[in-house]
Amino acid sequence: MRSPVWIKARHFLAFIWVMLFALDGAIRAYLMELYESSPEGAMVLGAIANTNWRESSEYLSMHWHSVALICCGLALVALLVWHITGRNVFRGVRKDKRLVVFTLIVVLVCVVAYLSKPWRRLHPAVFWTQWVHSANNLKASLADQHVERARLLGLAIQAKPVLTSAGPSTVVLALSESINRDNLSLYGYLRQTTPQLQEQQRNSGDQMTVFRNAWSVDSSTLPAVRNLFGFGAPSSTQSHHLIALARASGYKVWWISNHDDVGIEQQHARLADIVQMVNRSPGRSSVSLDGEMLDELKSALDAPSERKFIVVHMLGAHPHYSLRYPKGQNPFDDEVDAIEASLKSKGTSLWVRRQRQEYDAALLYHDHIVAEMLRLTKSVTPPKGKVAWMYLSDHGQEVGHVRNHAGHSSSTEAGYRIPAIIWQAPSSESPPEGVSERPFRSDWAAWTVADLLDIHWTPQPLERNVLSNPYQWEEPRLPMAVNSFTK
Ligand SMILES: [Zn+2]
Repeated sequence: MRSPVWIKARHFLAFIWVMLFALDGAIRAYLMELYESSPEGAMVLGAIANTNWRESSEYLSMHWHSVALICCGLALVALLVWHITGRNVFRGVRKDKRLVVFTLIVVLVCVVAYLSKPWRRLHPAVFWTQWVHSANNLKASLADQHVERARLLGLAIQAKPVLTSAGPSTVVLALSESINRDNLSLYGYLRQTTPQLQEQQRNSGDQMTVFRNAWSVDSSTLPAVRNLFGFGAPSSTQSHHLIALARASGYKVWWISNHDDVGIEQQHARLADIVQMVNRSPGRSSVSLDGEMLDELKSALDAPSERKFIVVHMLGAHPHYSLRYPKGQNPFDDEVDAIEASLKSKGTSLWVRRQRQEYDAALLYHDHIVAEMLRLTKSVTPPKGKVAWMYLSDHGQEVGHVRNHAGHSSSTEAGYRIPAIIWQAPSSESPPEGVSERPFRSDWAAWTVADLLDIHWTPQPLERNVLSNPYQWEEPRLPMAVNSFTK
């Protein structure tokens, strides 16, 4: 090329071309390092399709230092690439045979790469266009679920579910978010993160069952909640939705949520009779603490209906952890305790250790909310009738347990180890002996909640209801090997 305009154009185009690959590589490396996932993995695509401005900014405020590091790296690469692509290397060089051969080989490799479909698919320009398309499709399908909801209600009515008990009944399902049971002192954690739940346990005796070996089978919200309400087989056209079934058998259903999440709202919440999205109500603080839901729960419990099924969907300890408890209420950040010392000796980074302190502080606030929900449920006990309360988390969280990482984790047990608790009013039948030691999986939880609701329909296998005598545990298939599901 001789024309300076063409040389400039080539410089610019070559720069853009190389930077596309650099950016693509940086994003892939980031996702692989943090989540062991490729960009088109269900976890990443689902999160992108289902996120919003608030959640994205919380995410960035938690991971800003990794993002900043990558941006600095990219800026350096950009400078280098700009410099290299700007050099007119062939000017004044005599034609060298070796150089010609080398150039021909490079051209050949490039042509083969563009001809091969699996390689071409990974070209940044092609791949990311397709990726945006997939994310948009997923978002559109999440935002338009009314046909599916009508189908589920129809399916539930067809099943003709009946109630096995007469009289009033109130069942509360307190569904939390990102809680790893290993961090609850109720489960033996050294930091006192659950004093109030432990007090509830002491007062409740046999009425409260703490499942020592509870597992989620998904490490992110959308699939976990979908599996939970879809009886572990949400993709099957014959599978029921727990809320549709509860409504078809005469329950009035509430969905009270602190999540601002289009997927959950469209797939589950809108099946309920009454939907309260606390996080979107005007006049609330921009960071909505789970305590905002207590009033809503109280009014639902006070409502005059005979049969009530109340789902409370908390933000729990969803990252960013420091936004999940009132400012300044972190008792774990001032001294070096046994947890801090053991993390230090494992070589856990300062950042992850700090995240652990904030995570535990979020759990302490969470303990107060969950115990208060149980107290409220206990206090409205009608003189006759059934009252039950179940608490569990959608999935766990890795905060320096195995990896030097804080956040969702699909590749370590910490991402799946959840708490699960059931409380039943004194009048109800006591659960079978040794039930708290039974391994429990959250994708089967709907069978248990249906039991608490006293709903009967056919066919209704009892082997998946952890409270039933014929319960039969089956190990779920998780992405990594689990030594023991009862440890
Ligand atoms: Zn979640």
